[in-house]
Amino acid sequence: MSKSFMSANATPTPREGDLYRVIELQGTRFEIRYGYYEEIDRKHKPMAIYPNFAETPTYTSDGAPFVTHMQEPCRFYRRNGTDTDEDCSTCAHMQQGEELIGICTCVHNRKRE
Ligand code: SF4
Repeated sequence: MSKSFMSANATPTPREGDLYRVIELQGTRFEIRYGYYEEIDRKHKPMAIYPNFAETPTYTSDGAPFVTHMQEPCRFYRRNGTDTDEDCSTCAHMQQGEELIGICTCVHNRKRE
């Protein structure tokens, strides 16, 4: 395969702020853009940045919190399976949504009126 063909078809490197994708879950829309979680990450390519629901809790219309797979576990964490990572992705209360966003089904974490 010629070099010019390969470079013409190569995926361009995303830039900070470019849209990665839009995720719609239960009527809530999340725009996921490329960027950096920390300054030290700037020596690498930008990555898809997910919302920080620990800092800014966001709920479904019926009061269940959205979580990301990589979110730190809360005190109601219950391991699901044998994966030793301890984050929301391995918790039995996490219902998979789309990509790295899910919904926490734990009754203790529901939005209080
Ligand atoms: S109970 Fe919910 S918030 Fe807590 S670790 Fe499990 S999925 Fe995450």
